[in-house]
Amino acid sequence: MKFSTIAIHAGQEPDPTTGAVSVPIYQTSTYAQESIGKHKGFEYARTQNPTRLALERNLAALEGGRFCYAFASGMAAINAVMTLLKAGDHVIVSDNTYGGTFRLFDKVLKNFGLEFSYVDAREPQAVEDAFNHNTRMVFIETPTNPVMSLVDIEAVSEITRRHKDSFSCGARLVVDNTFMSPYFQRPLELKADIVVHSTTKYLNGHSDSVGGACVLNDEGDARALQFIQNAAGAILSPMDSWLVMRGTKTLAVRMRQHDENGRLVAQFLSEHPKVEKIYYPGLKSHPQYELARRQMSGFGGMLSFETGSLERARRVLEGVRLCTLGESLGGVESLVSHPATMTHASVPADERDRLGITEGLVRVSVGIEDAEDIIADLDSALNSL
Ligand SMILES: *Cc1c(COP(=O)(O)O)cnc(C)c1O
Repeated sequence: MKFSTIAIHAGQEPDPTTGAVSVPIYQTSTYAQESIGKHKGFEYARTQNPTRLALERNLAALEGGRFCYAFASGMAAINAVMTLLKAGDHVIVSDNTYGGTFRLFDKVLKNFGLEFSYVDAREPQAVEDAFNHNTRMVFIETPTNPVMSLVDIEAVSEITRRHKDSFSCGARLVVDNTFMSPYFQRPLELKADIVVHSTTKYLNGHSDSVGGACVLNDEGDARALQFIQNAAGAILSPMDSWLVMRGTKTLAVRMRQHDENGRLVAQFLSEHPKVEKIYYPGLKSHPQYELARRQMSGFGGMLSFETGSLERARRVLEGVRLCTLGESLGGVESLVSHPATMTHASVPADERDRLGITEGLVRVSVGIEDAEDIIADLDSALNSL
């Protein structure tokens, strides 16, 4: 079956009790048991919930993986994946990850004895050079937020596997696939070990739910993640599971429109005299355009552009009428944000400068409104500069 068919049907057989076509929201904390140890596979809703299970099956199928576990947020999913490690383990991280991921690693997990090396993973050699005897994980995000630089997933997975063999240490490659969604990028097919998502973004797609998930093939890691999901309990609620499932049904059509609009808005901005620089992997001027074409089947709706200063960024962000100023991304409505003070405020200033996250940088999550309207809105805000 192809992508849209899987999105609409995987994990979503009509409800066995009533035939309901939409998987019901099983809003229950517990389940009746017939006698001691005899039940229908559901005992307590932290451990199992049919709505969550349906979503997990759906997301596993979309990423082409065997197992999926859904969590209360993208950060909860990433945190769960990190518990596969133990004190003394070393993690190589692509720099310029989502600010919350950096914050979790740097402000929380470092205190538990995990070591992190941040590398410019646009160059796979940098990942190779960072390997140590205790490296147990490579964590990458591609494209990165907000300057849209790419990591070659296949090259990094090849390096990770080579080191796994030489140190027999079981280093895993984890890819945060939030920006592209499985519609445009399928890391497991490029030999990554684990995919993580903030379902809050494109998978749910309607800016009305916070959630996360991880998808993988390895049975041992899957058992460990299922264990931690139940043991630590940061589960996705039945209502949110249902919302994300409703979202994934239209993922293909939404992503196609995000992509079409993204290309049009990027083209417009690249020609605008008030825009100093634009970051969008679908433009030929993007330094990794060839990799983007090879690794992704579309370019999506995320882009950033440089206005030149904090004051100019402020005027653009205050000047838009249709686009909403706000954090988050991946919803049907266009959002604009200021990474330096919003999503990346927790990244130290000198590090931000090095990454290109300047005070003049504006990020756009291009929605699926009519592209002409989005462009007219940005145009009038820019022309006020
Ligand atoms: C939003 C986001 C996260 C965190 O997800 P939450 O659902 O907000 O916890 C992680 N990675 C990326 C790339 C994101 O955009």
